[in-house]
Amino acid sequence: KHFGQRSGLTDLIFGRDKEIVKAVDGVSFDLQEEDAVGVIGESGCGKSTLLHTLIGFHEPTKGEIYYEGEPISEFSKADWKEYRRNVQIIFQDPFNTLDPKLTVKETLKEPLIVHNMENKEERIHDVLERVELSPSEQYAEQFPDQLSGGEKQRVAIARALVLEPKVLLADEPVSMLDVSTQASILDLLSDLVDSLGVSLLYISHDLSTVSYVCDAVNVMYLGTNVETGPTTEIIEDPLHPYTQGLISAIPIPDPDYDRPRTEIQGSAQDPVDIGGGCRFADRCPEKMDICEKAPELVDAGSNRKVSCHLHYDHDEIDNNKDAHPT
Ligand code: SF4
Ligand code: MG
Repeated sequence: KHFGQRSGLTDLIFGRDKEIVKAVDGVSFDLQEEDAVGVIGESGCGKSTLLHTLIGFHEPTKGEIYYEGEPISEFSKADWKEYRRNVQIIFQDPFNTLDPKLTVKETLKEPLIVHNMENKEERIHDVLERVELSPSEQYAEQFPDQLSGGEKQRVAIARALVLEPKVLLADEPVSMLDVSTQASILDLLSDLVDSLGVSLLYISHDLSTVSYVCDAVNVMYLGTNVETGPTTEIIEDPLHPYTQGLISAIPIPDPDYDRPRTEIQGSAQDPVDIGGGCRFADRCPEKMDICEKAPELVDAGSNRKVSCHLHYDHDEIDNNKDAHPT
């Protein structure tokens, strides 16, 4: 198990002017060995913040991130170096993450030098073949502007893999690529998870690309986790109105396929204005009075969890109402 959570992981609170923004609120998930887990949500939902927290760019204000059972806040310098080798990130934009003055070989050599790895030439050759940039001798000598967008993203993936990490964090890795290239990069990622046994945390606004690669997903809305579970079950039977909206937005060619037709109206509210209730309430077609209270993430059976009053035990809600009349 690579990442784990103990009580309220990553409650990140940032100051913006004088206001306080809770960017990620008690999001919790586990990433096991050889898992591919997706995190879905619109831009501004806190996905990138979550990822930056995992690589130590931000510190959580509450909670703790555990890597292989150890809290990362207590890492020594040597632990951090080891962690940075084992946990690699693939960024969204392959056009800006490669140094235009370095050949592919020089780009791949840098991390090997930093981490004192042996057999550099051999590793570079192997990893280029692994990401299907073949013949590797030829690609090794090229500069980024001699490569297509897809080839650049393969180099970025090779750079992440060259240190033989245990975990890959991918932040919208195909969103800047054209559709036909997206499929081949998704195939590659999926194949890497299977063949190398590397774990993948895949962050995206696009449920269809995530479903292609990930066995499980976490759906985020305005910094909270609204639904989690196995990908196929969430797609076939989304429980949260927000997830239902996301899924009805995915084009599915089969006209007989019966799916929920929730449309999401409007846009996400400013995190600063969030009151105490359900964060999705102002866009939710199913909103009820009880939604003024924030729903908790509760068990919904078969490894699923959802945070929505529609899925609470109603007797319990009635009891609560009696206990606290409004
Ligand atoms: Fe909609 Fe209420 Fe569920 Fe929030 S808790 S998603 S407002 S039904
Ligand atoms: Mg982002």
